[in-house]
Amino acid sequence: MKIFTVALQKDGKLLAGSYELIEAAKSLGGEIYTAILAEDASSLASELASRGGGNVLVVSHPQLKHYNDDVYVKVLSSLIAKYSPNVVLGPASFYGKALFGRLAAAMDAPMASDVTAISQNGDSLTATRPSYGGSVIAQVANADSSKPFFVTIRMKIYPESKDGAGEVVQESVDEALLTSNMTIKEVKAESAGSVNLTEADVIVSAGRGIKGTENIPMVKDLANVLKGAFGASRAIVDAGWTEYSNQVGQTGKTVNPKLYIAIGISGAIQHLVGMQTSKTIVAVNKDKDAPIFNIATYGIVGDAFEIVPALTEKFKAELS
Ligand SMILES: Cc1cc2nc3c(=O)[nH]c(=O)nc-3n(C[C@H](O)[C@H](O)[C@H](O)COP(=O)(O)OP(=O)(O)OC[C@H]3O[C@@H](n4cnc5c(N)ncnc54)[C@H](O)[C@@H]3O)c2cc1C
Repeated sequence: MKIFTVALQKDGKLLAGSYELIEAAKSLGGEIYTAILAEDASSLASELASRGGGNVLVVSHPQLKHYNDDVYVKVLSSLIAKYSPNVVLGPASFYGKALFGRLAAAMDAPMASDVTAISQNGDSLTATRPSYGGSVIAQVANADSSKPFFVTIRMKIYPESKDGAGEVVQESVDEALLTSNMTIKEVKAESAGSVNLTEADVIVSAGRGIKGTENIPMVKDLANVLKGAFGASRAIVDAGWTEYSNQVGQTGKTVNPKLYIAIGISGAIQHLVGMQTSKTIVAVNKDKDAPIFNIATYGIVGDAFEIVPALTEKFKAELS
């Protein structure tokens, strides 16, 4: 079996999910290929090779500095056609989902999105994907094994590959593939220096219980002490207290951190579907009957305005 993973970079740094894809590829067993596209991908390629990326296919070009649907699809389609893998793995991140939908369509191939496990049964591959907010677990098999099966893997499900075999292979692609009617002139980070929600090991999220936008710094302080990301319920996004990019849930991001702390969040099903697979869930809520406590590993019944600053102080003292 030939397994192809697509490592994505932003600002010249690999997404951590790239190593998780290699681990998923290793679990299938077979020949691994990893593609990396960047303005100068050589150092990223060496790192991927040292962590088990197999044949690391490198395309470096100024046009590949920023993610561009059009150019990335053309370049990757040409590599996939050249190496004819059985399966192509990518991250179920914002860019990964955009890229893989287009790639599968461009290559007229099957696709499964936001997959939590992938396994091999003889010649056939089966992807496991939660549907309807996790209430249905679908097993999706590729019916046509003559075409690559495109799969995006939910982040933080597989551990990062730490080592393994790998060698860097410089690829040259036709210049025509690097042209586009679309030019990315600049990419602005929403909040510089903050941790990406879908990649975070720790997330501290705020809900309507924090009463107003002026109290968001209180929750962000706790997130910062834990080197985590800040998340939000839809209620406070709709209220304009924070940006949509922070929203966790059915119509926001699906996250899977090691630790999820929910502050003043009731636990509506639409929020739970975005975070209920977190390894440890801590809920702070003054209502002991709040539904969030049904899924919480640890529950703290009390006032967020007393508990959150106390937790921040305690962690600051313990972690400094
Ligand atoms: C189609 C659809 C899609 C949706 N998508 C999403 C989504 O993606 N994400 C999402 O989050 N929601 C989503 N929702 C909205 C969802 O149904 C809830 O309305 C929302 O999650 C509630 O947000 P909340 O828990 O912050 O607010 P509330 O439900 O108002 O809960 C506030 C909580 O704070 C507690 N509280 C109050 N004061 C304090 C205090 N001082 N200290 C501690 N606790 C306190 C209260 O006891 C309460 O439990 C969606 C809804 C629909 C219909």
